[in-house]
Amino acid sequence: MDQLFELPDVYHLALLSLTKTETIIIFAFLGLIIGSFLNVVIYRLPKMIHSHWHEQAHDFLEIPIKPDEEKISLLWPPSYCPQCQHKIRFFENIPVISWLLLRRKCSACQINIPIRYPAVEIISALLSAFVAYRFGPSAEGLLMLVVTFHLIIITAIDLDHQIIPDSLVLPLLWLVLICSVLGVFQPPSAAIMGAVVGYLCLWSISKTYKLIRHVDGMGHGDFKLLAVLGAICGWQSVFIIVAVSAFIGLAFALPLLLKKTSMQTAIPFGPALAIAGWITIIFVPL
Ligand SMILES: [Zn+2]
Repeated sequence: MDQLFELPDVYHLALLSLTKTETIIIFAFLGLIIGSFLNVVIYRLPKMIHSHWHEQAHDFLEIPIKPDEEKISLLWPPSYCPQCQHKIRFFENIPVISWLLLRRKCSACQINIPIRYPAVEIISALLSAFVAYRFGPSAEGLLMLVVTFHLIIITAIDLDHQIIPDSLVLPLLWLVLICSVLGVFQPPSAAIMGAVVGYLCLWSISKTYKLIRHVDGMGHGDFKLLAVLGAICGWQSVFIIVAVSAFIGLAFALPLLLKKTSMQTAIPFGPALAIAGWITIIFVPL
């Protein structure tokens, strides 16, 4: 038996009876609202990870941690200005509109609010609209929406901190594999093969690089991210993703390498993988 559960044929049809235009509008609106939360995750998750590392260093190496370090989570405390701690009221937190109405400044201390905040919200809305256009209100569309949000967060965090958190990429891998059992995207055997080939593809490149140059050329987060993308697209598409991401990575890297004139400059590969993977899922027939 190929699948653990026998699903009714209707499962593969649209989950909701919406027209294409209605789906695009709803997904874009959802993307805009959730884009605001993605900004919170992009800002807070690395802080939470660093605080966790400090705790571990304290426990295992007895390195003192700063006693005044405030505990934060993704939901607590409510959003505040990082400069003056001003609590952001609900009308100051409306995606894109608040940024325009506040004239790009914090209402209390007048510090500039980076354009990145509305940019993430707009990108999230646009990509969600694309997902709706490509997959409609189907199980594939909903899963791809979740994948898209994760890829946006991973791209931003990897650009800022050169890490791809396990807490993002591993649950996403399990989710994609569970969905494959339910018949979403690949059948389970193809999804597992895709994940294995995705992981091993970059792992072997990285190991070879380390043998020759004696330094790590790639982070393990990149392997896990390609495993997720392989599980969605199947193993054959892994090589398309690697080829496209190499081009995108080169486009990212060239200006940096020209400026710093050093081949040792650390360039995050996660964003290139995320962009290449997203393009492959949307534009290559799966
Ligand atoms: Zn402020």
